[in-house]
Amino acid sequence: MSKVDLAIIGSGGAAFAAAIRASGLGRSVVMIERGTFGGTCVNTGCVPSKALIAAGQARHVAADAGTRFPGIATSAGPVDLAALVAGTQDLVEELRAEKYAAVAKAHGWRVMHGQATFAGTPQTPVLQVTGPEGRVEVVEAAHYRQGDEVAINLDTSLSGGHYRLTEESFNSSLAHAKCL
Ligand SMILES: Cc1cc2nc3c(=O)[nH]c(=O)nc-3n(C[C@H](O)[C@H](O)[C@H](O)COP(=O)(O)OP(=O)(O)OC[C@H]3O[C@@H](n4cnc5c(N)ncnc54)[C@H](O)[C@@H]3O)c2cc1C
Repeated sequence: MSKVDLAIIGSGGAAFAAAIRASGLGRSVVMIERGTFGGTCVNTGCVPSKALIAAGQARHVAADAGTRFPGIATSAGPVDLAALVAGTQDLVEELRAEKYAAVAKAHGWRVMHGQATFAGTPQTPVLQVTGPEGRVEVVEAAHYRQGDEVAINLDTSLSGGHYRLTEESFNSSLAHAKCL
């Protein structure tokens, strides 16, 4: 079993904000990701969508300019969709390496690949991380405290066999996190 100060499920923007802050405060951090490292924004969200929208806009401007501005001759050839998608993927991989993998490496927190599931008891919750090859590792994360105030607190009320973060504890955690 590994013991850390903060276990983070996921590796997207929110996970990175928490990990950078916690590791900057000298806390030990583990980041657990079941899918592609970097989460939604860089892999399938903001980055590829904006790249494709920008490409569409560039072609549209080229195709349209001749009709909008007398005296200007522009043309737009056929779209090579495979090349466009490959170029977008190159951009995604470059930004994932530069803005996510390199940042995690520089801060030195551990990255685990696998599905995280809460286990243990409400009093002593743990995370079970099942790796791609089926190997299970247990991670126990301590709460963050500043004095006797809970700064980042995973409230583990048991509901229907699942742990849940209550709205009250979430708001309380946010308020205290801002104090850090
Ligand atoms: C097409 C598209 C375009 C977008 N464009 C913009 C934009 O232009 N600007 C903008 O601000 N936002 C945009 N967004 C929204 C933005 O991508 C999300 O708000 C942001 O990525 C959320 O970050 P996150 O860290 O909360 O979650 P995510 O980045 O989604 O990360 C969550 C991660 O947790 C992992 N995970 C979940 N459960 C488990 C588990 N049990 N065990 C292990 N891993 C787990 C998932 O695999 C995932 O990688 C866009 C979204 C989409 C889909």
